[in-house]
Amino acid sequence: MRLNAMSVFSLFSIFLAVSHAEQWNSNYGHSISHAQAICHQLHKQIPSRVAFDNTTNNGKLAAAYQEATQRYNNAANADDVPACVLFPSCASDVSAAFKLLHDAPDVPFALKSGGHDWNRGTSSTNGGVLIYFRPYLNYTTPSHDGLSAEIGPGARWQEVIPPLEAINRTVVGGRYGDVGVGGYISRGGISYLSSQYGLASDSAIGFEIVLANGDIVIANKTSHPDLFWGMRGGSALFGAITKVILQTHPLGMIYAGTRTYYSNQTESVLGAAWDFLAGFKDPKAAITLTFIQAGYIFGLNGTSSWRIDFFYDGTDPGQVFDSFHSIPSVPTDAGVTDPVGITQYSKILNTIDVPNFSNRSAGFVSSYPNLPKKQMVPFLQEHLERTLNMTSILNNERELAFFEMAFQTIPVAFHQASYERGPAANTLDPAAGDAWWLDYTLAWANPKDDVRYTQALKGVVDNGPLMMQARYPDLKPTNYQGAVSNETQQLVGYGPLLATDAGVGQNVFLSYGDERYERLKAIQQRYDPRGLFYTQTIPLDNLAE
Ligand SMILES: Cc1cc2nc3c(=O)[nH]c(=O)nc-3n(C[C@H](O)[C@H](O)[C@H](O)COP(=O)(O)OP(=O)(O)OC[C@H]3O[C@@H](n4cnc5c(N)ncnc54)[C@H](O)[C@@H]3O)c2cc1C
Repeated sequence: MRLNAMSVFSLFSIFLAVSHAEQWNSNYGHSISHAQAICHQLHKQIPSRVAFDNTTNNGKLAAAYQEATQRYNNAANADDVPACVLFPSCASDVSAAFKLLHDAPDVPFALKSGGHDWNRGTSSTNGGVLIYFRPYLNYTTPSHDGLSAEIGPGARWQEVIPPLEAINRTVVGGRYGDVGVGGYISRGGISYLSSQYGLASDSAIGFEIVLANGDIVIANKTSHPDLFWGMRGGSALFGAITKVILQTHPLGMIYAGTRTYYSNQTESVLGAAWDFLAGFKDPKAAITLTFIQAGYIFGLNGTSSWRIDFFYDGTDPGQVFDSFHSIPSVPTDAGVTDPVGITQYSKILNTIDVPNFSNRSAGFVSSYPNLPKKQMVPFLQEHLERTLNMTSILNNERELAFFEMAFQTIPVAFHQASYERGPAANTLDPAAGDAWWLDYTLAWANPKDDVRYTQALKGVVDNGPLMMQARYPDLKPTNYQGAVSNETQQLVGYGPLLATDAGVGQNVFLSYGDERYERLKAIQQRYDPRGLFYTQTIPLDNLAE
C-alpha cells in the first residue's frame, strides 16, 4: 500500500523536477528581477567573485562562467541561465549569499561542485543564483601526518587522488575521476575501497558548513554532532559544504583494469558476480559490473556488451577473481594484452566511463537482497530483459544515446565497514546480508523526451522490487543474520537507496528507515526551519511534513 502511494508521489516528484525550469519561468518577470537585485548586492560585496555573464569584470571570469553554466553531465542543465554565478573562495562568500537568499524566498539557487548529478535541476538554476565551488574551492591538503586531508568541495576526484598517492595514501572517493567531491560526499558515495572502509561519507571526520541563515559551522563528532550525523547521507538538505576533512587510508600499487564481455554472456557474468558476492572473501577486492547499450544516435542501434572493472588493493589478488577468469572476454589489442594488471589508482580514474556532456539523461538506483543463486540470477536476467524491452522501444524512436545498468555487489564486509564508522544517517547494517545496488542511466538527445524518457526509466526501476517481493516474500539474502537493531530492521531487503545514484522522487530518506527519517526531520527543523534548502532548490528528496 505504502509502496503504491510512494510510487505515485515519485512520479509526481519527477514531473516537478523535470519541469523545474518551466516553474521558475512562469514567475520569470518577478523572480528574475528580485534575483538580479540579489546578484547586484552580492556583486557589490564581493565583486571579484560574481559574474552575470562572461563579460563581467572585463571577462576575467569568462572561462569559469562558461564551465559553470555549460559543463554538466546532464546536458539539460546547461539550458538553464542563472541570474548570476557566485564563485566562492571561502565559506564567508557562501555565507554572504545565504544571508541574502534567506530573506528572498522567491529567488531560487543551486549548488554545483562537479556537475555530475544525473538529475535535472539539482545543480542548475534558471534565473536564480548558481553557487559554483570551482575554481577556487578546489584543493587537497594532507595533514602533516598524512592521516587525513582537507578537501574543497569543488575538487574532482582525479585532482584529489594524485597528491595523496604521492604519500602512499588515498581516500574513499569516486571511481570516475571527473565526479565532484561536494555532491558525492554529501550523498554517500560508493568506491572501490568500500568493502574495507564503507561509504565515502563514512570516512568524513568533519565538515565546514554554511547554514541557511549564513552561519558558518563545523560539524564533527563533538561540534554539532546531530548535523554531522545528518550530513552523511542527508544530501544537500541542511547546508552547503565548503570544506570536508576525510580520513586517508594506505594505498600503494594496485591490480586493476577493465574487461569487456559479449552481451550473450549475461548468465555467466551474473553467475560469477553472484559467486563473488555470496562467497566474498577479501575486502581488498572490488568489481563493477555494467551492461552497456549504445543507442541509435551513436549509430550503433542497440549494440550492447558487458563491462567488468576489477580492482584489488595490492598487487596480488590471489584467486579472488577466479570466477571471472574462466569467462572468455572480448579480446583487446588482438588478444595480446590483458587489460587487467598492476597499475596506480590515479591511472584508472578516467578509464571506466566517458563524460556525457552532450546528452540529456536520467538516473535511478534500486537495492535488492541477494537471494539464493537459483532465484537471484534468473531474476536479474529477467529484470534486465524487461528493461531492454523498454529501451528498444525508445531506440526505435531514434533519439536514444545510451543505456547503462550497473550491477553493484554489496557484500556484508561493505556493510560492516560502514557500521563500524557510524552512526550516520546512511550507516549500513552488516546483519542485513548481501545486497545488489542497481544503478540505471538513460541518455537521449531531444529535449522533448525529457519527461517521457525519465518516467519510462522510473517505471522499470520501480517495477523490479515489486516483482521480487511478490515472487519471493520470505526468502532471506545470503549471509543474513537478522538486523542489528530495530532502527536498521528496515534496511533488510529493499533499502537503503544510495543517494549518489538516486533520482529525484526516489524516497531516499524513507529508505533509511522511519527512525532515521524522523531524526532527519528534526535536524532540518533545527538548522533550516524556513526550508531554504528544499523550497529554493530542487532537492534530491524531501522530508514530508
Ligand atoms: C560518470 C559518473 C560516474 C559516477 N560514479 C560514481 C561512483 O563511482 N560512486 C558513486 O557513489 N557515485 C557515482 N556517480 C554519481 C555521483 O557521485 C553523483 O551524481 C554526485 O552527486 C555527483 O557529485 P558532483 O559534485 O559532481 O555533482 P553536482 O551536480 O555538482 O551536485 C550534485 C548534488 O550535490 C549537491 N551539492 C553540490 N555541491 C555541494 C556542496 N558543496 N554542499 C552541499 N551539497 C552540494 C547539489 O546541490 C546537487 O544536489 C557517478 C556519476 C557519473 C555521472
